[in-house]
Amino acid sequence: MARTPRRALIIGGSMAGLFSALYLKRAGWRVDVFERSPVALTGRGAGIMTHPEMRAALSELAVEAGEDFGVPVPGRIVLDHAGNEIGRLARPQIATSWNRLFELLGGALGAPAYHLGRDLVRVSEDADGVTAHFSDGASETGDVLVGADGFRSAVRGQLLPEVQPQYAGYVAWRGLVDERDAVAAMGEDMFAHLSFHLPPGEHFLGYPVAGSGNDLRTGHRSWNIVWYRPADADRDLPRLLTADTGKRHELSIPPPLIARGTIGEMRDAVARLLPPQFRAAMDKAQQPFLQPIYDLESTAMAVGRVALAGDAAFVVRPHVGGGVVKAAEDAAALAASLSAHQDVVDGLRAYEAARIGVGRRFVAQARRLGSYLRHDFASEAERARALWHAAPAQVMAETAVLDFVRDQP
Ligand SMILES: Cc1cc2nc3c(=O)[nH]c(=O)nc-3n(C[C@H](O)[C@H](O)[C@H](O)COP(=O)(O)OP(=O)(O)OC[C@H]3O[C@@H](n4cnc5c(N)ncnc54)[C@H](O)[C@@H]3O)c2cc1C
Repeated sequence: MARTPRRALIIGGSMAGLFSALYLKRAGWRVDVFERSPVALTGRGAGIMTHPEMRAALSELAVEAGEDFGVPVPGRIVLDHAGNEIGRLARPQIATSWNRLFELLGGALGAPAYHLGRDLVRVSEDADGVTAHFSDGASETGDVLVGADGFRSAVRGQLLPEVQPQYAGYVAWRGLVDERDAVAAMGEDMFAHLSFHLPPGEHFLGYPVAGSGNDLRTGHRSWNIVWYRPADADRDLPRLLTADTGKRHELSIPPPLIARGTIGEMRDAVARLLPPQFRAAMDKAQQPFLQPIYDLESTAMAVGRVALAGDAAFVVRPHVGGGVVKAAEDAAALAASLSAHQDVVDGLRAYEAARIGVGRRFVAQARRLGSYLRHDFASEAERARALWHAAPAQVMAETAVLDFVRDQP
């Protein structure tokens, strides 16, 4: 039975889900987004570095990012352990936040097409279309289903069970510091920049983002911290993911459950490893939390009437800062490929052909950038290759930069 207009079921209501919904709606589809969370999503203030491609996607979708899109960051600075500046690079960029993007995209889609508390458990397909089955027993049928349900994707888990996240060998400690505390610790110039420190085998960075409620006023913003630290998969990670109650969490641990001893260990490392400016700022960080870093490479992005998009398809270590652009471009390619083909399955094959190589390139580049985040190497050649990316000039030139995608055919 043909549906008119054609209907897309989009699983996951974050970046890839919202971009997919907006691009497909623009192409004439009826769209519904099904998000597992029973309450409106928030991104814990996570900072997102932006790129011209992100602005281009938003303007293509007539989403007005405006003056309050984020905090302008003039460039990059690297500090040594004593707190001396050892590198500076001008590279203007806007630091926005997950919350701001979510607000813009969600506002453009509108509430009626966005359904909270819908947890997909299974997908089935027959001649009539594709059906999403939810944990409450309800189901929805459409012409195409988009798995935009992130790195633990239930959609991918059913269709490609062999594709699993691969632990990168390090974790990211993350946190936010109020602007006033950060400026008192490091001064206005450093607060305004994307600032790095590179202890051996580690990588610390901070940059300004909007304060709560997207507050962009001077004095009300926050400093967003990401600190990559090696953590051996067998020796360290299980301990880091174990709560004070003794419960061991699998892939990540909710921030309030991180054991006091684990926080204490991180605080000791702050005192030993960071320059005085970052030490003073870290001492004021509100509820730092840790996130193990994973890669994930899907072997397919289309199976029958089902497409994978965003982190459900490829998870990229954060060094290239391109997860949102990748999600937006997946969504644009999906809508274009479906528009170019009468048959949905043919359209999804074309989508996969357009995007699978890009996903692989993102993962490979981020692996190169993170390759020195360890304390031991298999050979001198491997060490030399990895450490090339740890030089201050390279870190400033390569972090949160998408030139590698544009430079390749
Ligand atoms: C430390 C760090 C820093 C980063 N910095 C940047 C940056 O500067 N720039 C950038 O572009 N990217 C950055 N990223 C990456 C970026 O955050 C992700 O690539 C992006 O959020 C992926 O969006 P997504 O919609 O694909 O997945 P997600 O954001 O993971 O969303 C998946 C959604 O699906 C829902 N869901 C899951 N399962 C189900 C189900 N069964 N049924 C229904 N719904 C379900 C989830 O609740 C969630 O809302 C960073 C990531 C990290 C970890």
